[in-house]
This record gives sequence, structure tokens and C-alpha cells, in this order.
Amino acid sequence: MAIKWVNELPLGGKKIFCRVDFNVPLDDQQRVTDDTRIRAALPTIKHILAQGARLICGSHLGRPKGKVVETLRMEPVGAKLAELLGGDHRVLVTDEPSGDGARQVVDQMREGDVVLLENLRFNPGEKKNDEAFAMEVASMAEGYVNDAFGTAHRAHASTAGVAALLPFKGGGFLIKKELEFLGLLLGEVGRPYAALLGGAKVSDKIGVLENLIPRVDLLLIGGAMANTFIKARGGDVGASRVEDDSLEAARRIIALAEKKGAELLLPSDVVAAAGLDATSGEVVAARAVPAGLMALDIGPKSRERFADKLRGAKTIFWNGPMGVFEKQPFAAGTLAVAEAVAGSDAVSVVGGGDSVSAVKKSGFADSISHISTGGGASLEFVQGKLLPGLAALEE
Ligand code: ADP
Ligand code: MG
Repeated sequence: MAIKWVNELPLGGKKIFCRVDFNVPLDDQQRVTDDTRIRAALPTIKHILAQGARLICGSHLGRPKGKVVETLRMEPVGAKLAELLGGDHRVLVTDEPSGDGARQVVDQMREGDVVLLENLRFNPGEKKNDEAFAMEVASMAEGYVNDAFGTAHRAHASTAGVAALLPFKGGGFLIKKELEFLGLLLGEVGRPYAALLGGAKVSDKIGVLENLIPRVDLLLIGGAMANTFIKARGGDVGASRVEDDSLEAARRIIALAEKKGAELLLPSDVVAAAGLDATSGEVVAARAVPAGLMALDIGPKSRERFADKLRGAKTIFWNGPMGVFEKQPFAAGTLAVAEAVAGSDAVSVVGGGDSVSAVKKSGFADSISHISTGGGASLEFVQGKLLPGLAALEE
């Protein structure tokens, strides 16, 4: 991919529009409860500022559906950014994403200031990649940088349209790092190469499975997804969550793994209970879940077997929790694999929204080589799809 990086761009003295992913969680008083995404963009932001550019940041926040939603204004995000920049820079938040008010703030900014545009999705043109909106945003700037990996799988005005309208464009350091690690998963890797997949649905992950199976040595499947595979192989999964319309796909994937010589591991035991609110579960055979019970986590034998395989791997991609990790009685499987991935000396990459929160919750995040900031975007990348936000950066 021919993408220029932010450190290769002629930024000095220019007004630079930088698409960031500041879609952070807010509490009911609009306080930022997790600033990970703002921190992730800091290297790029600081670099742009250090070059003497005038920086205009833009992001979406939540789902305002094309209109102004008072609780989704960027003000608290701007305050958090100013705090993280250590008081060295003013952060001016505009009261609309584009238009005269925004332009005035940009026109009056001084060197060292950061302008943060109001929530881009207040304008219906953002998600539609509307040309007129893209031109309004572009008209405030002289160069384009994208560091919002989390929205790179969307062709929106700020991730696609604007890039084409400015004299130069490039990717930020966060996108660069994401591509380095995610790209590695699709290239020459250290072996054994293990893919650990779980989570809610097979149907969400078929593309990932199909693209990874020819590359991996080992495929470990847990979570609700495993139920569909176990049923496809003739097991009785009781009242577990199953996708009956994906049984055929599961059989196809099993056959593909056989054909490509990837060893497929499914749980042999599971922790089952009558429902998600149960305060404990019982360990039963994965292929013989009693009527009325649901498999909600992988069992102790499976934990050990999965952990063993993972500890010996040299490359690991992990997406999808092994069980309902949000509930303490069903979190042990996810915790055990997190510990094993962290304890391995593999290059390890975790992608997916819930998987990332599970890893953070496990306390092992620091021992993982790369935790992707893009849930959907990382999965689409691993599926081998071309992400529109990256395509827009290509020279
Ligand atoms: P990611 O966001 O990392 O891609 P998914 O969205 O596919 O992951 O799956 C996460 C969800 O799957 C979690 O909310 C978890 O509770 C659920 N889950 C995992 N295992 C089971 C199971 N055995 N039964 C029901 N739900 C499960
Ligand atoms: Mg999810």
C-alpha cells in the first residue's frame, strides 16, 4: 500500500485537518469515562503541532443521526484533550462541524492552538460522504491526515471525501501501527500460528475464518460460536445459543480447515447454566449439554488445552471472548486464554470491541503485542477487505 505517513508530509505553517477517533464513552453528566482513544491519537497530534502546523481535529461522537444532540457535543472531549496535552495548547471547540462559525474559529486560531470541530455526525452529510459537506470541511484546511483507524472501514466525508479534496494527505502514527501488526497476520509469520476465535456469532466471523484458515496452523474456537460448530458435528448443545442457519457454513469451515491442514480445536467441556443470570454453572460435556441448560463458558479441560496450545504459539490472533465474560461465573475461560496469550512469547494481536474490553479487564493487556483500537475495522482488515479510509490515503 502506497500511503505516506504524517512524518513525511510538508506540514510546517499549514492548516491540517486530522480525522481522529474521539468517539469516547461519556457518563450521564457528559464526562469522559475512558480516554484511551484520545491518548492513542496524541503521538500524531503532537507531531503535527511540533511542525508548526495549525491543527484542526474532527471526529464523530456517538450516534446523533445527522442532527444536533446536546449530550453528544465535543466540549468535554476538547477539555480532556487540552488536559492530556498538558496545558501547552489551547483547544478551541467550534459549535458546528463546518460553516461560518467553525471557519471563524479556524481563521482566528494562533500557532499552537488546536481547533476541535463539533461532532461531525451532527451533519447528515458526514455518513453519506456528501460532497458538499466534504468541501466545507476541506475548505478550512490545506492538508489531510487520518489517524482514526476505528472508522477506517467507513467511507464517510471525513474519512474519504475530504482526503481527495486537499493538496496532500497521509496516515497518522496510530493507523501506521495498526497496519504493521494487522498486516503481519496476513503475511509471513512465526509458526505455529494460532487463531483464537469466539464471541457471539459465527455469521459475523465467517469472512475472518475463511481468510485465516489457509494461513494458520491452529484454529481454536470458543464462545457461543463454538455451539454452532459442535452442533454441526452432531453434538447436543441443549438450550445453548446456536445459529441454525449457519450450520452449513460451520461444516464448510470444518472442511476447509481439514483441507488446508489447520488443526481445529473445539471445547470438549463447557460451563452450563439455565440462563445468563445464574450465579454459578456446572461443568458438562460440550457435546452433551443437558436439556434446558446453556453453554456459557468453556470448561476447565478446554481452558487447559487451549492455554497449552497458545503458550506454544509464535503468532496469535484473538477475536471473541470464550464465554459470557461480563458475568463473573462465566469469565474463567476468557481469563485463562488471556493469561496464556500474555504468557506466550508469540506476537499477539487482539481485535474486536468486546475482546479488547475482556483483555483490559483481565489485567494482561500490557503483555499483548498489539491491542487494536478498531473493532469492526480490524475484523474487516483481517478478512482481507480493502478499508475505504485506507484506500482514500493511497497516492
Ligand atoms: P468482539 O466484539 O470482540 O468481536 P463479539 O461481539 O463477537 O466479540 O462477542 C462478544 C459477546 O459474545 C459477549 O457479549 C459475550 O457475552 C458473548 N458470548 C460469548 N460466549 C457466549 C456464550 N457461550 N453464550 C452466549 N453469549 C456468549
Ligand atoms: Mg462485539
